[in-house]
Amino acid sequence: MSKEEFHTFNSDMHSSVTPSQEDYIEMIYRISKNNGYVRIYELSKMLNVKPSSVTKMVQKLSDLGYLKYQKYGVIVLENKGLEFGKRLLNRHNAVENLLRILKVNENNILSETEKIEHTISEETLDCICRFVEKELDN
Ligand code: MN
Repeated sequence: MSKEEFHTFNSDMHSSVTPSQEDYIEMIYRISKNNGYVRIYELSKMLNVKPSSVTKMVQKLSDLGYLKYQKYGVIVLENKGLEFGKRLLNRHNAVENLLRILKVNENNILSETEKIEHTISEETLDCICRFVEKELDN
């Protein structure tokens, strides 16, 4: 397969999404996975961002069709957000598992994962997923 046939993680549908927006969608997916929604203040706490900034970003993500911003600060992911959020969480977990397998210092694993996850291609992610699955099986 030629290099041109591979697409980056953010190809087509999600091409304009910034790393910060990815962090938001990943966190919204993470929190709302269980009960279907998340509130502005929870997101603000979990991301260590001011509620006013969270509101601004949530409005932007609503314009992009990832979520619905409802009354009383309730955020619900649209199908597009659910699908992307799931991929983002899987990507995060794959990178985190890789760093753990490599015995990266536990204190640094989360921050290192946050840096790496936004920059890898889908092709590299596939390789990491396969490697991690094989390692975890052993
Ligand atoms: Mn992450």
